[in-house]
Amino acid sequence: MYRTHTCGELRASHAGQTVTVSGWVNRRRDHGGVVFFDLRDRAGIVQVTINPDLPKEALDLVASVRFEWVLQVEGLVHKRPAGNENPNMETGEIEIIAKNITVLNPAKTLPFMVSSDTDLADENARLKYRYLDLRRERMTRNMVLRHKVIKFMRDYLDEKGFIEVETPIMFKATPEGARDYLVPSRIYPGQFYALPQSPQQLKQLLMVAGMDKYFQIARCFRDEDLRGDRQPEFTQLDLEMSFVHRDDVLDLVEDLFTKMIPAVAPHKKLLSTPWRKFSYREVVELYGSDKPDLRFGMELVDVSEVFAKSEFKVFKSALEAGGVIKCIVAPRSADMSRKEVDALTEVAKTFGAKGMPTLGITTEGVKGSISKFVTPAEVDALKSRIGAKEGDLIVFATDERAVVNKTLGGLRLWFRDKLDLADKEMMAFAWVVDFPFFAWNEENQAWESEHHPFTMPKLEDLPKFDTDPGAVMSDAYDMVCNGYEMASGSIRIHRRDIQMKMFQMLGLTDEEIQAKFGHMLEAFEYGAPPHGGMAPGIDRLVMLLADEPNIREVIAFPKNQAGRDVMADAPSEVEPKQLKELHIKFS
Ligand code: ASP
Repeated sequence: MYRTHTCGELRASHAGQTVTVSGWVNRRRDHGGVVFFDLRDRAGIVQVTINPDLPKEALDLVASVRFEWVLQVEGLVHKRPAGNENPNMETGEIEIIAKNITVLNPAKTLPFMVSSDTDLADENARLKYRYLDLRRERMTRNMVLRHKVIKFMRDYLDEKGFIEVETPIMFKATPEGARDYLVPSRIYPGQFYALPQSPQQLKQLLMVAGMDKYFQIARCFRDEDLRGDRQPEFTQLDLEMSFVHRDDVLDLVEDLFTKMIPAVAPHKKLLSTPWRKFSYREVVELYGSDKPDLRFGMELVDVSEVFAKSEFKVFKSALEAGGVIKCIVAPRSADMSRKEVDALTEVAKTFGAKGMPTLGITTEGVKGSISKFVTPAEVDALKSRIGAKEGDLIVFATDERAVVNKTLGGLRLWFRDKLDLADKEMMAFAWVVDFPFFAWNEENQAWESEHHPFTMPKLEDLPKFDTDPGAVMSDAYDMVCNGYEMASGSIRIHRRDIQMKMFQMLGLTDEEIQAKFGHMLEAFEYGAPPHGGMAPGIDRLVMLLADEPNIREVIAFPKNQAGRDVMADAPSEVEPKQLKELHIKFS
């Protein structure tokens, strides 16, 4: 028997028992003849004390032991004398007085320390030796949290009558707006499977199959440019329900998350229950983004009215051209230096703004780039409209509506970071609903689906498909939290005629529709129930709950930022023989 207990579980109540534990040497200390090991396993760390009265053989062995050796220790659990407890260790009330020590496996000197977080900077080294990196307490904690999140989801959904069904990884292209990963077929030369960008089609087919309430902890594969915090494969809680309307899905997922957060991450706070629900239009007007960070205010305010008669050229010409003037109010920023304002103006320009007018409210009146161009009456009207007070910096954007919203939305987040406005422990969930159905792709001069092409339009908007596609609204919804899109979903098309129309709008020919999606259209002819669902992302959720800066920290074996697995070195070349079998030739 390797162990009777885990290292981490021992407490004062075990005092007096002889136990056997196995684990890694986290640290060692020598104190004039007495040697202490901290022995670590997944459950935690326990102190092992080696007294000089052990046989010489054992003491010689102990002398050779180094960090990260794997040991088995048999010993007596001893309650530490009063004053010697270590309140920083969960096992700090006790120590194990060693009787027998066995080396199960020695270890080379590690490329980095795992008993502390001191050398986290070189991420490639961490990923190359991920099996060592995961030994860190912090990483172990993340893995356990991830497990708890997934277990909570499974238990909750099981309770609500859902069943988990696995769907194939080798399938056919399922469009979610990214490139597909393809798997060449050996048996069918020139033919390919596609890895699913999501199980979207399959979960809908499960509804046609009468499965009623489905979920899956599903891996999704999307070949996207690796900007930002992305992984080629990621995990979603994929779910789908039959005979539901939008709010049935939202209520279920909201209840799941509202119960899960306190259970798995009790230090987190929820902003509000029930969650706020915004229309797409409303949220973009208020926060300049369809994935707002609601942990702080600083909403965008339309002040076009206040400046309706302004002679200030910038305002006047924007209003005459049909644009708007909006602003945000940044607290404690009226005295921002010229240099900072200039730097921020450059930020504003990256969002499409031409400039960034500002007004600071100070004891001596207003200052800032446009103070000379505003009348006292305008300042008064402005103050009462936006409730600005001394110390506030009013930051304007004036242009066409979309540019103004985007600019102020971006600057709002800039101030969040600069002024530390967001509560780190807050999880500010909200729903965004009523999205436009189509998005116009300027480059391709074609309509695209704003979500995916299986999303149901609002039925009353169907006639607008031919006359005014831009005005069609969809029955889609997003879950947002702290400035991230955490999930999207929709009520689905379950009628063949509407699905057909949708594909045609996207510019597909009848032959293409048949070849790509014939199976879906056919399924809809055999009694498809009305259905809908959504898919919260698990990586990002665990990242937020674990207070980690990126999703790689909560994935056991992620790719690095250049999309490589640096541990196994993948992607990598394969044998010419394998290529031949797959009918692949490089020219
Ligand atoms: N399949 C969608 C996605 O991966 C989610 C959904 O509509 O359920 O984003």
